[in-house]
Amino acid sequence: MDRYLIESPHEAQECKKLLKDMLANGYLHHFEWGCPEGTHVGWAIIEAESAAQAFLAVPPLVRHKARVVKLKRYEESEVMSWH
Ligand SMILES: [Zn+2]
Repeated sequence: MDRYLIESPHEAQECKKLLKDMLANGYLHHFEWGCPEGTHVGWAIIEAESAAQAFLAVPPLVRHKARVVKLKRYEESEVMSWH
C-alpha cells in the first residue's frame, strides 16, 4: 500500500452535501478542512492500492476537482548519497 495526499477543493455551497456524503462513505474522519477559514478544501493522507482507489475517498459530487498525489518519504541515507 502506498500513501496518497488527497486534496478536495469545492464551492462554499457544496460544503454541507460534501460532508454528508463523506460521513456516508466513511471517510469523514480522515479529512481536515479549511472551510471555516473560507478556504473550501479538504485534505487527507490515506493508504491505498492506487491513485484510482484513493480518488474513491472523494464523493462523486466533487471528485472531478480532486487532486491525488502519491507520497514518498526520503531517507536520510538516500539524500546523503546524492552528489
Ligand atoms: Zn467547504
